Amino acid sequence: MLRVVSRNSQENTRYEDMEQLKTDLKRSGHDLEQLEDLEPAVYRRFVAPEEDSLGSNIPSESLVFPVNHMREIPQLKKLLRETEHIVQPVLGDTRIKVATRKGTSIGNRVMRNSAIGRAPEGSQPQESQKCTGTGCKCCKHMGMSGDVFHINKSELTVPNRYSCKTENCIYMAQCKLCNGLRSEGLCLEDTYFGQTSQKFHKRINGHRACFNAEDFKKSALSLHAMENHPDCFDMNIYKMAVLKKVNPRDLNREEFRYIEKYQTNSYGLNRCKVER
Ligand SMILES: [Zn+2]
Ligand SMILES: [Zn+2]
Repeated sequence: MLRVVSRNSQENTRYEDMEQLKTDLKRSGHDLEQLEDLEPAVYRRFVAPEEDSLGSNIPSESLVFPVNHMREIPQLKKLLRETEHIVQPVLGDTRIKVATRKGTSIGNRVMRNSAIGRAPEGSQPQESQKCTGTGCKCCKHMGMSGDVFHINKSELTVPNRYSCKTENCIYMAQCKLCNGLRSEGLCLEDTYFGQTSQKFHKRINGHRACFNAEDFKKSALSLHAMENHPDCFDMNIYKMAVLKKVNPRDLNREEFRYIEKYQTNSYGLNRCKVER
């Protein structure tokens, strides 16, 4: 193996000769697994030092692995580093990088250039969150996926796939009157995050039922409307969106996550103390 590597300066012939050698040795009774265990050490001895010394002058190509974020990324990077000397003879002088989604990668470049990837970069076709059911009173509050809400100093983009009919979900409602006064860097009391195990439009019926003089303190939405817009005491001041469908046992945790992230318990309708 050492001889194969030392007499082959070209990576492709080095690789072919090494494969041939292993095939021959296997045929004469050697254990292939053992041979492959030895191989990295052989490359380390010959290939690595030489290419390291050249590496600083020659810009190497990068190959990016797009991966979704996961806890094991450090281990994956370590594994790739450890196997670099095995991969390089195959790919040529190539730096392998791990990138959590976003940015240019082989995957999304191919998608962009192919006929099936016609949607504008980084976005999916917009879908309405209206269920369009006959007489659904909730539809008029709903917008499109891709719509962007400004909540305190952050933005939230409405996702695909959900509608008035989604159950076990996290939702939001934003007061259009207050949000219309928004200006740069100003926090507003205009947004509410909630959760429901029912279908979303059923939960909204519950909020709507509180829009009267007797019950308005039982819902954050009616309470906000009464206190801030007594002349427009109506559900129609709210734009709503279904944000995420979750496992029923995760509803509390997910709702809390949104409230924390967008700080609607400091500046927002999640600060309202409603009567139970
Ligand atoms: Zn609907
Ligand atoms: Zn308002």
